[in-house]
Amino acid sequence: MAFVEVRNLTKSYASGVQALRDVTFDVKKGEWIAVMGPSGSGKSTLLNILGCLDAPTSGAVEVEGRDLAALGAAERARFRAERVGFVFQQYHLVPYLTAVENVMLAQYFHSLADENEAAEALTRVGLGDRLLYLPSQLSGGEQQRVCVARALINQPNLILADEPTGNLDEMNEAIVMSLFTELHRAGHTVVVVTHDPEIGRMAERRIELHHGHLSEVSVFPKVEEELIDNLLKEVWHAREDTGAQAFESEKFAPFVENRATFQLMAAEELVRLAEGRLAFTPAGESRATHVIRRHRLSERLFCETFGIDPAVVDDHACRVEHTLSPEVTEKLCIFLKHPRTCPHGSPIPSGTCCPPR
Ligand code: ADP
Repeated sequence: MAFVEVRNLTKSYASGVQALRDVTFDVKKGEWIAVMGPSGSGKSTLLNILGCLDAPTSGAVEVEGRDLAALGAAERARFRAERVGFVFQQYHLVPYLTAVENVMLAQYFHSLADENEAAEALTRVGLGDRLLYLPSQLSGGEQQRVCVARALINQPNLILADEPTGNLDEMNEAIVMSLFTELHRAGHTVVVVTHDPEIGRMAERRIELHHGHLSEVSVFPKVEEELIDNLLKEVWHAREDTGAQAFESEKFAPFVENRATFQLMAAEELVRLAEGRLAFTPAGESRATHVIRRHRLSERLFCETFGIDPAVVDDHACRVEHTLSPEVTEKLCIFLKHPRTCPHGSPIPSGTCCPPR
């Protein structure tokens, strides 16, 4: 059973805005999910519904098998206090309470407030020496760490964070994100709304919203590099087939199907996305050259050396192309006597080992 099950979720406001449209996905226990998408795409609305701060217009959300719609007002408050830890971009700390009192406030619904426990939680986020400071005496990063301590105090199973580093400088962003990494390692289920690809990358999985639609559930980072290689190959093939250097991204099917990954590739400067057009950057072209080279050399190896039918060598090559090191690729090229084409006649980019062509 999934830890969180979201089914056909729709949220419409009286203004006529549909913030969420038929959104369906699952979150496994202990998983770290990033919810990404442009401003206004429904990310906060989704998070508020998951945390029982808002109710959907239609569709269902189950957390640990409980249907949130079936909870009465008191049960909803209890669910929020006991099961969920919230971290917001705006810290929502009570200005006239000290750090330790702000954390103790969150204990109130759950059990008796325990100052030692609250102090321990603050120590865990590196604020053991700031217990009696008021929010105004703390930096933004420190205030956000108080929020993380507050979110943790009741040992919630589900941690929901909305742009938790939106107001922080780079160093504090790193500190807060390392806290999230620890929480995830400790087994908490984490859902983070962010527009920052770097933070999205830290999650195990990303879901992408566009105009309230879930447009992509992306893969785990481990296979993401392979996906990036494959998408670079797609751009290469399109360029080879058409002779064009840039493509209308919205008409390029791999882009439409993998928006979030292409955004990441743009953030990593592997592709350029400008005025609706997609093109390689020099770094992307270089990486694509190597992938295509590994792929086509592998095809030749399978065909010539292992006698595998050319009709199926593509499949085999797809599996090994991600794992060949530059040294092995070079040895392969030398062994095959620097072939210029794959078994299907497509050119193999030359490497540093190849004689000048
Ligand atoms: P995001 O978090 O991705 O920026 P939101 O979930 O905040 O997006 O908003 C999604 C859409 O719903 C936006 O068009 C926003 O203007 C609209 N919206 C959000 N909250 C309300 C509200 N309380 N009343 C009316 N429209 C709202």
